[in-house]
Amino acid sequence: MIHIQNLFKKFNDLEVLKGIDLTVEKGNTAVIIGPSGSGKTTFLRCLNLLELPEKGSISLGEKEIEFNEKKRLSSSQITSFRKQTGMVFQNYNLFPHFTALENVMEGQITVLKRSKDEARKKSLQLLEKVGLKDRSDMYPHQLSGGQQQRVGIARAMAMDPNVLLFDEPTSALDPELVGEVLKVMKELSEEGMTMVVVTHEMQFARDVADQVIFMDNGVVVEKGTPDKVFGNTQNPRTLQFLNKVN
Ligand code: ADP
Repeated sequence: MIHIQNLFKKFNDLEVLKGIDLTVEKGNTAVIIGPSGSGKTTFLRCLNLLELPEKGSISLGEKEIEFNEKKRLSSSQITSFRKQTGMVFQNYNLFPHFTALENVMEGQITVLKRSKDEARKKSLQLLEKVGLKDRSDMYPHQLSGGQQQRVGIARAMAMDPNVLLFDEPTSALDPELVGEVLKVMKELSEEGMTMVVVTHEMQFARDVADQVIFMDNGVVVEKGTPDKVFGNTQNPRTLQFLNKVN
């Protein structure tokens, strides 16, 4: 489903990704952990081309892109590639002047060209799925952070993506609201959604991940099952990180 080879990304002179390789099978959940500044978010943003790598390749579903500093991608290439992914952001990124329902409908109408009726029907189903059908007419400021993030998840799902990308989806939440968002994510994972999740929630990684990826300083230091990475690692950098966060 996702196959990434030798991905490089820099910001000016700062090399942030230094040759990342990763494969995620269809229906699996990959959880990326690692210290702040190690390149996790940049990597995730490269997966839906919010950042453009200089080198390497990403194959996602039926599309493959090879990056080359000298060859610019066309905007239609970027759009059609991006349609395959749904992104859930740390700060929800909802439109403040749209209700929950309108937020979930918007991309379906503007990007996928669905009719309003179809988009509304799909949005209500998804809002029900994330436990918010009764809040569908509320505006973001009338919702808690956990509820806003669940709208964010419904909005990402509304595009029928092949892959859902989560960028520290619970980092901005008060601790008592984290659980409700992780619960929705766990359900999606169990239903067979393909997901890549950047998070500091180690328990979630242990419980839900098929594959845990430990990144440090722009490289994948270690990847494997949660049992391997959390329970059985011999890698000194992984051990040092896990000792700090546990
Ligand atoms: P993480 O998600 O692991 O905390 P990031 O991917 O956010 O790491 O950041 C990795 C490095 O890239 C950091 O040093 C950060 O300051 C830098 N960086 C991220 N985005 C940009 C940007 N748009 N411009 C310049 N530097 C950036």
